Amino acid sequence: MTHPHPDATPPAIAGWTSPSDGMTGAIGGTPLIRLKRASEITGCEIFGKAEFMNPGGSVKDRAALAIITDAEDRGVLKPGGTIVEGTAGNTGIGLTLVASARGYRTVIVMPETQSQEKIDFLRMIGADLRLVPAKPFRDPGNYVHVSKRLAEETGAVWANQFDNLANREGHRHTTAVEIWTQTEGKIDSFTCACGTGGTLAGVALGLGDLAHRANAKRPEIVLADPEGSGLYGWVKSGDLSISGNSITEGIGQSRVPGNLDGVMIDDAERIPDAEALAQIFSLQSEEGLSVGGSAGINVAAAIRVARRLGPGHTIVTILCDGGARYQSKLFNPDFLRSKGLPTPSWLS
Ligand code: PMP
Repeated sequence: MTHPHPDATPPAIAGWTSPSDGMTGAIGGTPLIRLKRASEITGCEIFGKAEFMNPGGSVKDRAALAIITDAEDRGVLKPGGTIVEGTAGNTGIGLTLVASARGYRTVIVMPETQSQEKIDFLRMIGADLRLVPAKPFRDPGNYVHVSKRLAEETGAVWANQFDNLANREGHRHTTAVEIWTQTEGKIDSFTCACGTGGTLAGVALGLGDLAHRANAKRPEIVLADPEGSGLYGWVKSGDLSISGNSITEGIGQSRVPGNLDGVMIDDAERIPDAEALAQIFSLQSEEGLSVGGSAGINVAAAIRVARRLGPGHTIVTILCDGGARYQSKLFNPDFLRSKGLPTPSWLS
């Protein structure tokens, strides 16, 4: 096959991001990187969308910009206003940077179990950070519920990334369009993990729209799920059963977020941490790509999909954020040993 053009196309929502928009104009339009080893071992073309290259360092910059722009358009976010959100960190980073650029403040509620790097970065960029104990969603102390209550009590705007469809619409009109253009419409399968589901759902809907318009086959959509998440079981059998756990952050769910409503997900892969880590370490040492845990889950799932489809297919996944955000965990021999996980030779 011809290789997709490496340059990204400009995002598709007029006025949403343009250079005249300042920093927010640099969100999206990320390169689609061919993953050499994954492609070679499978005989497929496997590509990773380099979302770690966004200004805030993650895929969540897109959701942050979409949510803030939507709140502005609806007239609920006024100059000088405050946005409150519960987040594993990356959405908080994206929201805080976009808020700074547009004249708002953020209050970020985050489980204290998330990486120190994300906590430090959020403080550094001026978020009003509230760390809360990690609690399941059914507990009123869960970070999502705490953020909702805080917004209600203070009259701030609650971003509500899990159920706010502006999140997936952002991906539908940017990420999906970029992937379609970068692969020249030759994409057989898209696989990615789900936190809010904004990326998976938005890309699934967008690719579906574009394939339909081009009279082409709709690319298959595959959920990549960590251990400890109920979504794999939900896709496979409709049952949100949960077992195991994962050191990955920002992905996996015990419920079905609103962003996934009505979205066709064709299949799912459940990826153990050791398999994801092997991909992260190989991307680092063999391809010079430093990525975080969810990207490892995504690449591992893309390889499984490639093996199932057989040689000659094109599979796209998401490189959600960079490895530096997890230096104290995924790249820390003591942490890895404490979890019974292998340490790469250059770290030990
Ligand atoms: N990877 C990382 C590192 C994240 O922080 C998130 C968002 N929490 C995701 C993946 C999942 O993205 P989405 O919310 O669009 O499902």
